[in-house]
Amino acid sequence: MKAYRIRDEINGIEEPPGKTWFWELQAGVIDAGRCIQCGTCVAACPSNSIGIHEDTDLPELVKMCTGCSLCWDYCPRGGLRYEALWPPSTVDAGADGTIPEGAVVRADASDNYWKITGGPPGDGLGAVTDSYAVRAGARPDDAQDGGVVSALLIAALAGGEIDGALVTRPSDDPDEPWKGVPHVATTAKEITDAAGSFYNQTMALAELDLSRYELPAKPRIAVVGTPCEIQGIRAMQSRRWPTGAHRIDAVVLTIALLCTKSFDYQGLMLQLLAKDRGIDLERVSKVDVIRGRMIVEYRDGEVAVDEPIKNFHGAALKGCDECADFLGRSADLSVGSVGSMDGWSSVLVRTERGRKALDNARGRLDFRELDDPAALVKLDNFDKKIAFDSLRRPFDPDAPLFIDYAEHVASYQDTDRAPVVADR
Ligand SMILES: Cc1cc2nc3c(=O)[nH]c(=O)nc-3n(C[C@H](O)[C@H](O)[C@H](O)COP(=O)(O)OP(=O)(O)OC[C@H]3O[C@@H](n4cnc5c(N)ncnc54)[C@H](O)[C@@H]3O)c2cc1C
Ligand code: SF4
Ligand code: SF4
Repeated sequence: MKAYRIRDEINGIEEPPGKTWFWELQAGVIDAGRCIQCGTCVAACPSNSIGIHEDTDLPELVKMCTGCSLCWDYCPRGGLRYEALWPPSTVDAGADGTIPEGAVVRADASDNYWKITGGPPGDGLGAVTDSYAVRAGARPDDAQDGGVVSALLIAALAGGEIDGALVTRPSDDPDEPWKGVPHVATTAKEITDAAGSFYNQTMALAELDLSRYELPAKPRIAVVGTPCEIQGIRAMQSRRWPTGAHRIDAVVLTIALLCTKSFDYQGLMLQLLAKDRGIDLERVSKVDVIRGRMIVEYRDGEVAVDEPIKNFHGAALKGCDECADFLGRSADLSVGSVGSMDGWSSVLVRTERGRKALDNARGRLDFRELDDPAALVKLDNFDKKIAFDSLRRPFDPDAPLFIDYAEHVASYQDTDRAPVVADR
């Protein structure tokens, strides 16, 4: 096996203690079916050794791993799993370790959350200075809710605050209808064309190799991402190291989309929707997960699917179960649909940068009070409960792609840190 051959060749050279190799990320996260395709490992790798597998859209080693450990350290399902520590240290769990209905989950100074955001999260919505229901005056046709994210980005671009925005636009590939792909938009039109939600992860942070875009030498980029992607950025920005091709330093604004789960593109779109339900993906104008249901609408207004979301859980990313960050606590702004009436977006302002971005777009936006802030707290608590339970889920040997992580760690500890990897 290629990886072991390289190791054999360097046998006898002492490794520094604590070194972690890509193969350990591969075994513990990727092969274990826990990867949430955020792209942080690709962006963090200083030797640009990690790429994206053509068929699976998962990280893969494309060059020699130097064992710098950074892909593991920053991976939200690897070393960065601050949320894994969160509920047990703070919630009043029952005697059997489960969180009782209605329990208030708090974070405190002992939580790693502090290390990422630099401030105390507080109760409920977290470290939020202001919260509103917001709607764009001129809402793009394809906007998911209030069109606020697109309006904010267009205003930031027009005001010269940013040179581009990392968004998710529809794939050009005719074999991939309704697949979101990452793109750095540099015009208002490109931002408008990328409006709406795609329910697949895109390895977004890998796109921060900005060399393929025409941008100033010191670009300023806004990033729209799921909370796990923003965790990756925030963590990488909080510690300096010689980065590879990826411009983490260029990110000046982060907008998290509230998120309880994302999906595997092939599983959701091609299998469950197109194949199993006969949905014509070319005719689809909107896919939404709202009030516990999956709603798919055609461009002529016909509702093609309206079913409980649990019918689609088979295509959800398993790693999302472990996520306790529905509210995107590491971002400058968090935006979602829960908490506001239809056609509006809930906006949580978390930092001064977020406040400025919202102020710059004020002329383009309508503001109201949040309709139902309690709904946000309730869903956040529910999300944490799922994460808490998933960490204690017993090992199921029949689960596809799932390995017993503790056993895996023990195995390489016993064998002088030789990683357990599938033959490549
Ligand atoms: C996977 C996923 C799960 C979500 N789950 C929830 C939820 O449980 N509860 C809730 O309240 N809100 C959720 N949202 C957020 C919600 O769907 C809207 O994105 C949000 O309300 C903003 O709407 P808008 O009209 O203001 O944004 P728009 O103006 O429509 O802009 C949306 C922006 O998001 C970008 N985008 C689209 N898909 C992705 C993606 N997969 N990854 C990164 N960026 C993307 C677009 O490129 C665009 O820039 C989720 C979003 C996604 C992508
Ligand atoms: S979860 Fe993110 S950082 Fe971890 S392996 Fe997957 S893409 Fe890489
Ligand atoms: S549920 Fe969490 S891990 Fe999954 S895509 Fe959303 S933010 Fe990322």
